[in-house]
Amino acid sequence: MHTFEFLRPQDSAGAVRVAAQAKTAQQGADVRFLAGGTTLLDLMKLNVETPTRLIDINRLPLAKIEATPEGGLRIGATVRNTDLAHHPVVQRDYVVLSQAIFAGASAQLRNMATTAGNLLQRTRCMYFRDTAMPCNKREPDTGCPAIAGSNRTLAVLGTSDTCIATNPSDMNVAMAALEATVHVQGTKGARAVPIGDFHLLPGHTPHRETVLEPGT
Ligand SMILES: Cc1cc2nc3c(=O)[nH]c(=O)nc-3n(C[C@H](O)[C@H](O)[C@H](O)COP(=O)(O)OP(=O)(O)OC[C@H]3O[C@@H](n4cnc5c(N)ncnc54)[C@H](O)[C@@H]3O)c2cc1C
Ligand code: SF4
Repeated sequence: MHTFEFLRPQDSAGAVRVAAQAKTAQQGADVRFLAGGTTLLDLMKLNVETPTRLIDINRLPLAKIEATPEGGLRIGATVRNTDLAHHPVVQRDYVVLSQAIFAGASAQLRNMATTAGNLLQRTRCMYFRDTAMPCNKREPDTGCPAIAGSNRTLAVLGTSDTCIATNPSDMNVAMAALEATVHVQGTKGARAVPIGDFHLLPGHTPHRETVLEPGT
């Protein structure tokens, strides 16, 4: 049985501190945040994700949606998908975001799923989720059976000869269309990343999915 530590930091600084102890940014990352758990727990049960440290962020004060002085909206990492899709300002000014969220999953899942968890969910490629199969994204340099295999829902643009996986998030498509900015906290402070620069194309490093690195 794979064992892991379960931590419940009291504030964001504490969460950043324990997350910074991650050993690797590659497959089976050492540390994972637990938000709604609707996809992470599935991947842990499948042994696709094998963190040794699980950090529950549900008690952190990150569940607010606030107007910004520039006229935008700042959406907390743990805002539930349902709350975001039903928010009156989202329904009035960012209807594509509301529609995209409602297009995904089920009401029960959307009630649990969070903004950051949705942003960071991993591909639905069936080989990625099957540890009996090789997969460059899960284990670098093992191969990509999807290229010559079952790939009907995978990508035709932005692919490489090592991975043709798609990002599975409906919400991310709307966020990209709205040119959202992702605000990241790390040991080196806070930084803002345009969503178009946040997710990485597979290239030769499909195991790297975003610009996030442990602790930064
Ligand atoms: C049956 C089913 C059907 C689905 N259908 C759809 C669909 O049609 N469309 C769609 O878009 N999605 C679909 N989903 C996916 C669903 O949207 C995601 O499971 C959900 O959004 C993930 O959010 P979460 O809060 O539960 O994330 P979690 O499972 O808690 O976490 C997901 C990942 O994000 C990381 N993470 C979470 N919060 C943070 C943070 N603050 N900082 C850094 N990392 C963080 C976690 O460590 C983990 O790696 C489906 C899921 C299921 C189970
Ligand atoms: S498409 Fe990507 S995720 Fe799917 S098997 Fe190939 S390398 Fe793995």
